[in-house]
Amino acid sequence: MSAVPLRNNKAAASAARTVTVLGATGSIGDSTMDLLRGDRARYQVEALTANGNVEGLAKLAREFGARFAAVADPTKLGALKEALAGTRTECGAGESAIIEAAARPADWVMAAVSGAAGLKPALAAVDRGAAVALANKECLVCAGDFFMQRAAKAGACILPADSEHNALFQALSSGNRDELVRVIITASGGPFRTWTSTDIEQATLAQALKHPNWSMGQKITIDSASMMNKGLEVIEASYLFALTPDEIDVLVHPQSIIHGMVEFSDRSVVAQLGAPDMRIPIAHCLGWPDRIVGPSARLDLAKIGQLTFEAPDFERFPGLRLAYDALRASGGLTTVFNAANEVAVAAFIAGKIRFGAIARLVEATMNDWVRSGNLAPLSSADDAISVDHNARNKAASLLPQIALKAS
Ligand code: NAD
Ligand code: MG
Repeated sequence: MSAVPLRNNKAAASAARTVTVLGATGSIGDSTMDLLRGDRARYQVEALTANGNVEGLAKLAREFGARFAAVADPTKLGALKEALAGTRTECGAGESAIIEAAARPADWVMAAVSGAAGLKPALAAVDRGAAVALANKECLVCAGDFFMQRAAKAGACILPADSEHNALFQALSSGNRDELVRVIITASGGPFRTWTSTDIEQATLAQALKHPNWSMGQKITIDSASMMNKGLEVIEASYLFALTPDEIDVLVHPQSIIHGMVEFSDRSVVAQLGAPDMRIPIAHCLGWPDRIVGPSARLDLAKIGQLTFEAPDFERFPGLRLAYDALRASGGLTTVFNAANEVAVAAFIAGKIRFGAIARLVEATMNDWVRSGNLAPLSSADDAISVDHNARNKAASLLPQIALKAS
């Protein structure tokens, strides 16, 4: 049985819910808290977490009367306790406290930590059979099939929160699995959609952070500029919905209005549309299996006028090609793809490599991994974490030579 549920009943749709938000101070966290604010009577906040932003976390914990607040930075426990003095919120710090936050009894958990650091906390929520709205694509890419198998075993319900996957989740209920021909995930094309390879190679951090449609955290914004984000999303779609690489297509759609489509055997293509506002897919996850009243702007297609489409360019955006390669190779190669990309993005932000070197570092790390012949499937979280760790070390060791090499 798949851990991604089919819409099957409307029972208890408006009942009170306890919720936990992992990564509450981030961009997805912010959108989630905004939705919770819209119906304070319905949602009781169990736990909220952040990496190091004590002030932002404490403010939210006070506002929502959270039972538990945890910060990943172990040195900040004192500061968090001080910021929450006089409240009933329990405090925790360090990785174990983030996992504890996920393990506490909330009906619904938003998994919105960024990067592979979100894996263990997401698994802690999955293991107790919670409904987990999954924004953190890296944890799925890092743990592969294993994550979904564990969710199915625990009876957890994985609600895809990433906009494209949420669109597919909505469209997939229009037909049966054996009637599906392919899914299409759209990509805005990012700020460098029309740029030449030479210009992309030398793009600055400020240019990479200027996304045309979406306002998001720094890592995913850079991933959108390199189209690594779309690569991660192809892998994410494959694991979430048990699709082969050939069943997943990417379509560049600069307006970001259609988020995903499913083609069925009768040649019907079912799409989900909405303004580029993450509160829309998150609201779908929060209300599931019902729909809540969302605060986002209504879609005005007459005002938008035109929806346009282009084929993706695998030459100028090699990250997309590498994602398909990683998926086809299976084993831990998607974990390696993700780990090397995280190292490369951090190096780009730190000014150590050019923008164009991000994909080169990912490719070099993947090639090295394939040469080592280490392509056994992942069978545990520790396996995924160990491949992630080793791939990061490998990427870091290859970094100096990639940094020196011009395109
Ligand atoms: P962000 O950087 O704005 O926020 C990340 C959150 O995670 C923050 O609360 C931060 O404090 C916390 N965090 C970071 N590192 C941590 C660590 N090591 N341990 C514990 N907590 C840590 O990121 P975001 O844009 O909100 O993205 C979050 C996740 O959602 C990412 O996986 C991203 O790919 C995915 N996502 C984001 C969007 C978007 O529109 N922002 C859309 C789709 C998917
Ligand atoms: Mg997305």
